[in-house]
Amino acid sequence: MLGQPAKSHDGTCLHCGATLTQVPGRGRLRQFCTGEEGKAYRRRMRALGFPV
Ligand SMILES: [Zn+2]
Repeated sequence: MLGQPAKSHDGTCLHCGATLTQVPGRGRLRQFCTGEEGKAYRRRMRALGFPV
């Protein structure tokens, strides 16, 4: 498993599970519908003790 990403992501929102349209060639994969959902997700995960 060395050299593998810590986790794979299949193109759905990590917050609400909606299918996201990935934009190729723009660097990072989208993981949330909106930046606000990303913030909410990370805040929730931190509250649960995950180092996100
Ligand atoms: Zn979402």
